[in-house]
Amino acid sequence: MLSTPVLPFDLRSEGSFSALGSAFYTRLPATPLPSPYLVGFSSEAAASIGLEPDAFERDGFVETMTGNLTRELDAESLPIATVYSGHQFGVWAGQLGDGRALMLGEIAGPEGVQEVQLKGAGLTPYSRMGDGRAVLRSSIREFLCSEAMHHLGIPTTRALCVTGSDAPVRREEIETAAVVTRLAPSFVRFGHFEHWYAADRPDRIRELADHVIDRHYPACRDAQNPYLAMLAEVVERTAVMVAHWQSVGFCHGVMNTDNMSILGLTIDYGPYGFLDGFDANHICNHSDAQGRYAYQAQPQVAYWNLFCLAQAMLPLLGEGQAGVEAAQGVLETYRTHFPRALDRLLRAKLGLHEVRESDTTLVNDLFKVMHDNRADFTLTFRNLSRIARDGAHADAPVRDLFLDRAAIDAWLSAYRTRLQDETQDDAARATAMNRVNPKYVLRNHLAETAIRAAKDKDFSELARLLDVLRKPFDEQPGNEAYAALPPTWASSLEVSCSS
Ligand code: AMP
Ligand code: MG
Repeated sequence: MLSTPVLPFDLRSEGSFSALGSAFYTRLPATPLPSPYLVGFSSEAAASIGLEPDAFERDGFVETMTGNLTRELDAESLPIATVYSGHQFGVWAGQLGDGRALMLGEIAGPEGVQEVQLKGAGLTPYSRMGDGRAVLRSSIREFLCSEAMHHLGIPTTRALCVTGSDAPVRREEIETAAVVTRLAPSFVRFGHFEHWYAADRPDRIRELADHVIDRHYPACRDAQNPYLAMLAEVVERTAVMVAHWQSVGFCHGVMNTDNMSILGLTIDYGPYGFLDGFDANHICNHSDAQGRYAYQAQPQVAYWNLFCLAQAMLPLLGEGQAGVEAAQGVLETYRTHFPRALDRLLRAKLGLHEVRESDTTLVNDLFKVMHDNRADFTLTFRNLSRIARDGAHADAPVRDLFLDRAAIDAWLSAYRTRLQDETQDDAARATAMNRVNPKYVLRNHLAETAIRAAKDKDFSELARLLDVLRKPFDEQPGNEAYAALPPTWASSLEVSCSS
């Protein structure tokens, strides 16, 4: 038995996922990794569960977060791996489940109850052909992006830390193992519901939905049909999440239904990417030959995934045709929620408070000229705040990002005309725009540089990069290089499902 637990995990509390019963998960210890070491740590994520910023220095912290101490736990305190199924790349994939993730328990912190999950902690009954491990490279990518998204104000699971070990892990080449500690109020995915729908177990679908409602959507209890109300919440949150992605040029890469959070959180960071030069059809995942999850396809894919969820929840939504129509009605709200959320974000990005009918055209025209010129997504929006309303003298920071100067000049002229309708002066508009247009995003080459250093056991670049991404909207003197256009070597970087 552990005499003094390093973290106050609770795996038995009322209403927790583990209270659902053993059909929903398997209890098992993690598989230890030899001589683990700390790779990275997020003090903000620590604060969200009430840990001190130096918690990582405590005795036993690294071992705990690597899963090395779970063998000593008594049977009811063992971590759990949950079962789910899902559609992968549009095809029913059958049973999947936590093949390499183990939930240690939950912690009640200042931001509510958070589940603590170790990703890469060894084989589970759901590992299928996998080895239960995650490599250092992909664990750093997940860690960095979780925290970067949080600081951008985008709904996401969090990451507390990454630990590493020199234990070899076979991918395309031999790499080393790592474990990323993730935090979320819930790790329930659309696929958890699909699993019980496929098994024809409406009783279990109901149990799961009751858990999600009681724990995460309590207000839905008061609705005439709480399950329909819950679906409506998930539709709205998913729409808002994807609108955020589109507004910062984020591509998830693997929007399978098992990678969709029931809380509308960005989850399972794999071959994701932030767009550098804007290409509406950009495919960040090298394994996605068809471009199913291309940037531009994300909003429609989210709808498709919500459709799968609605189908899986159908037994709870009403009898016969009435249930189907109720579900369809809720799904249709996506078509209002998504454009509304995106419109709000894009207006703020362009510094537009007033509403004009021509605004949609203005925005679409900007995306078109960005696409035609492969203009840098982040810098285009960031630099727009520097435009002067009364003349072209301050256009250079935007203009210089476009090869076709005539095209961007025409757009800037239309934008300037539109700004005449606004009451804010240039300075106030710039301040407001800089609060929503990040200067620093997790470009692929930045993550890659930190990963290369980490592979050589130098974790300082990872810490520095995390520090930059903590304040993505601030001017950070001395850190301008992190906001610069990608170097030429970055264009040959490829990320795939291999992780
Ligand atoms: P992903 O594409 O990462 O969302 O993973 C899809 C499914 O494969 C999930 O059930 C994962 O748990 C499982 N999986 C991915 N990689 C591994 C691995 N190395 N070992 C075991 N299971 C894995
Ligand atoms: Mg996944």
